[in-house]
Amino acid sequence: MSSPEPDTISSRVSWMWATIAFCIALFGVYYADQAESQRFQQEIRSETLEQLSRLRADIESRLTGDLQLFTGLAVHISLHPDISTEEIDNTIRGLMQQQNLVRSIGVSKGFVIHHVYPLQGNEAAIGLDYLANDSQREPVLRAVSTRKIVLAGPVTLIQGGQALIGRLPVFTALPHGGEEAGKFWGVVSVVLDLDRLYDLTGVSGGEMPIELAVRGRDGLGQFGDVFLGDEELFSDDPVHLDLSLPGGRWRMAATPRARLLQKVDERRRLIQGMGVILVLLFTIAGYVISRQFQQQKLVIRMQDRSREQIWHSATHDRLTGIANRFLFNEELSQAIAQARRHQGSLAVLFLDLDRFKEINDAFGHGAGDRFLGLFVEKLQGQLRESELVARLGGDEFAIIAKDAESVEALSGMAQRITSLMSQPFQIENNTFHVGVSVGISVYPDDGETPDLLLQNADLAMYTAKEDIHSSYAFFDESMNREVQERKRLVDDIRRGVDSNQFRMVYQPIVDLSGPRVVGVEALVRWNHPERGPVSPGEFIPVAEMSGLIIPLGRWIMGRTAEEVMGWTGELEQLPILSINMSPIQLHHGDPVAMVDEVLARTGLPADRLDIEITESAILEDVHKATKAVMRLREKGVSVTIDDFGTGYSSLSHLRHLPVNRVKIDISFVQQIGQDRHSEAIIRAIMFLSESLNLRVTAEGVETPEQLEFLRELGCSEIQGYYFSRPQEARFIPDFSRQFAQPGQRA
Ligand code: C2E
Ligand code: CA
Ligand code: CA
Repeated sequence: MSSPEPDTISSRVSWMWATIAFCIALFGVYYADQAESQRFQQEIRSETLEQLSRLRADIESRLTGDLQLFTGLAVHISLHPDISTEEIDNTIRGLMQQQNLVRSIGVSKGFVIHHVYPLQGNEAAIGLDYLANDSQREPVLRAVSTRKIVLAGPVTLIQGGQALIGRLPVFTALPHGGEEAGKFWGVVSVVLDLDRLYDLTGVSGGEMPIELAVRGRDGLGQFGDVFLGDEELFSDDPVHLDLSLPGGRWRMAATPRARLLQKVDERRRLIQGMGVILVLLFTIAGYVISRQFQQQKLVIRMQDRSREQIWHSATHDRLTGIANRFLFNEELSQAIAQARRHQGSLAVLFLDLDRFKEINDAFGHGAGDRFLGLFVEKLQGQLRESELVARLGGDEFAIIAKDAESVEALSGMAQRITSLMSQPFQIENNTFHVGVSVGISVYPDDGETPDLLLQNADLAMYTAKEDIHSSYAFFDESMNREVQERKRLVDDIRRGVDSNQFRMVYQPIVDLSGPRVVGVEALVRWNHPERGPVSPGEFIPVAEMSGLIIPLGRWIMGRTAEEVMGWTGELEQLPILSINMSPIQLHHGDPVAMVDEVLARTGLPADRLDIEITESAILEDVHKATKAVMRLREKGVSVTIDDFGTGYSSLSHLRHLPVNRVKIDISFVQQIGQDRHSEAIIRAIMFLSESLNLRVTAEGVETPEQLEFLRELGCSEIQGYYFSRPQEARFIPDFSRQFAQPGQRA
């Protein structure tokens, strides 16, 4: 199954966000453009309206202003119905100075024009009868009937140009009284120059920012003809305004000219341009931000993962993948806390493989590792989900069993685990028989802290290991007392080494063929000020476990070499000094360096020194033991296998070990005459050593029968109470000399 690379995920998502950003930006820009354009429409409309109303005001004021001026003339005439033409001219002249648009003034008494000002150029108007003229009749009659000014036109003038004509009806004024009062007198017509009006207001000349059309000829408003601009304008959607005139109205329509629209277009283009840039920026930003976000997420995810990995490798065993000591302690603390809250119980099972080292030594660490893997697999198959198994190191494992219901249940569990090992393990055509020892401690009886529970399960495991009948054991308090006692003993041994409480004794080894003393075995003695004499069988194992055997062993070797050298003058030849070397010294000290140092310091010849190594010490690490033995042999020191016959595979290893001598274990010798099996073993050892050309010493010989049996088998080197108990150094020369006398004891 292939999952997409995290990096491609990030890029795909980034593009998606970029697209979304693009769409949002596009929509935003489109919306803004629409809103702007609407706003501009509005703006233009109001600007058009403003222009138009300014124009209207201008036109209105000019037209009405000029017309109103001539109401003065009408009033004057109405007050003086018999006014002369000279007088009219004078009045007009006065008024004309104040106006702009008036081209001419026509005065009719009744409906026929009888006077025109200025006369020059307007002679044709004299005698015009309004009633007889179709285009003039209607507005004139309207003015008369309404008694108000009526503005007509525009009309095209005979002398060219366009004009508006204002009619002012004149009635004789009341102050004259009588019949004439309020009677129709005539009409004053004011001809206004429309072209000039257009010029003055800016309508002509194309300077205006708006397009303009006006309808309402003769003041008919929206119903009148269009007399300025394009009629089409009214059918678009123009801005329009009505313009009030004396006796009527005009309707004006306007739309903005291109000039105004251009400004709008520019702004819209600007917005659109900016919009494109904005969309681009948005898209890029969308991509970049999302990418960065993705990458950040990726980094966080990777950090999480590596944190998880670190946590996992810190809490799990690399080889087997199960919990390690650290996680075990954590889990145990929690389990204890939980048990405490619920008044529950739990158990810790401590597992240790028996003879696992042999696999490593014989088949290499690869095989050992595979064995452990297989073991864990089988072990997990036996456990419930609530039970946690951890590797504490090497071949040590521990299990937390929550809800430990009963001793029986725990026994059952331990039995299931140990019976796993009753079947041999098969790894690469090799068959392995490995045992497991299980120690069990229970919360809260055997301890309330993780450390104590584990320590007590460990203690129980050691008891199980030593017990040949059972491979599991429950912790009990006596184990703890043993531990305390052992601790005190360790302290005493340490003090004993410092304050010279140890001394050496020597047990002669007799060669029957002499007979003579060929060697002595050095044995350590301890006389504790309070404990009294403590046997080496008791304190040597404790000194080994605590590591104190290394300084003690160094002292022993130095002391014995010195004492033996003390016999130099008294004996023809020094006996061979056998010194016991503990497995701890062999594997964890530096035996060869120590021997070198002692020989150099005391002057003991190397061929006078023999090192006794027990068979089990060799079996602990055959490879390392062989190396040490060979290096001692190279120096001229001889090596003996002590307690021979007690280990099983000894005979097979013997072939490869360059030792000089074997010592038949005391347990076989003491069974001579009582146990045929022991006798058979002695025979086998004799046979084997003969064929390997090894010397044999029998130790623990006490009786003449034992001596006879061994002599018959050809074993000539004898050590035991029969000849001598271990003695102090000073007695050995005498003993040896006596023994050399012919006919002695043997
Ligand atoms: P081992 O090396 O097997 O020593 C022989 C033991 O047999 C000695 O016990 C000795 O006293 C005893 N023995 C000798 N002949 C007879 C006999 O005829 N009958 C009986 N019943 N016992 C006899 P010891 O001195 O008590 O030493 C016990 C063990 O302590 C030794 O066994 C040896 O393993 C260890 N040991 C003694 N001294 C030293 C030492 O200096 N260094 C080391 N590393 N271990 C020592
Ligand atoms: Ca010995
Ligand atoms: Ca022995």
